[in-house]
Amino acid sequence: MPFKWFGKISFVPYTRVTDFADHLKDGKLMGSKCCDCGQVTFPPRADCLGCMSSEFDWIEYSGEAVLNTYTIIHAAPTGFDDIVPYMLGIVDLPEGGRLMGWMGDVAPEEIEIGMKLKVVPRIFDEIPEIKVHYTLEKA
Ligand SMILES: [Zn+2]
Repeated sequence: MPFKWFGKISFVPYTRVTDFADHLKDGKLMGSKCCDCGQVTFPPRADCLGCMSSEFDWIEYSGEAVLNTYTIIHAAPTGFDDIVPYMLGIVDLPEGGRLMGWMGDVAPEEIEIGMKLKVVPRIFDEIPEIKVHYTLEKA
């Protein structure tokens, strides 16, 4: 147990935003919109940061994105060391919120802060611990 020294950890596998993963399997990128004040968030939140309301609706995101920052990984964690170097990006979503994903079809010499990208949700079937990830492709 790597966190034994940290004390007891509560883990709840189902939350009110669990449907997010099911939407991703259908290829839909979903955020949440507060029913009371209209605040939009990504990743989705069951409880509004703006007004603390617990009523929300799902809204589908367009997948449009603008590159906020990126990194090129040369010293990877165990399990990823066979694919170095690889690039990760953090994008701003025009509907609201940010997302981190793997750079897809963008070459290192093409990458530029502020470039437009497209978020593509993907499912790993072969890696049980990580089910969902995103790639950031050229828009
Ligand atoms: Zn609200």
